[in-house]
Amino acid sequence: MTDHTAPAPSDVEHLAAVLRRRREELAGAAGVRIGRGEVVHRLDTHMWAGVEIPAVGCHAAVDPLRLVASAGPVTCRRCLGSGRQAQEQVPGQTALL
Ligand SMILES: [Zn+2]
Repeated sequence: MTDHTAPAPSDVEHLAAVLRRRREELAGAAGVRIGRGEVVHRLDTHMWAGVEIPAVGCHAAVDPLRLVASAGPVTCRRCLGSGRQAQEQVPGQTALL
């Protein structure tokens, strides 16, 4: 009987390959939107399980597959104020998507 609680190594490799390809696809983008959102975020790179994955500078999205390349400019004030602490509220912006 197969153990379905843990992903098979081939599944993990497949996911890692998908995430690497996604990062390459977004590499030249000036910014990224989250799904159909209107806010343009700064493209960042995070490490996930040893794989470099695309992310937004303000951590508003956790799913790299939802990120869509945008010609920019970056309009997310949380991303633009990247020197701030991540949890800090930015006056004038309530929408992250
Ligand atoms: Zn942002």
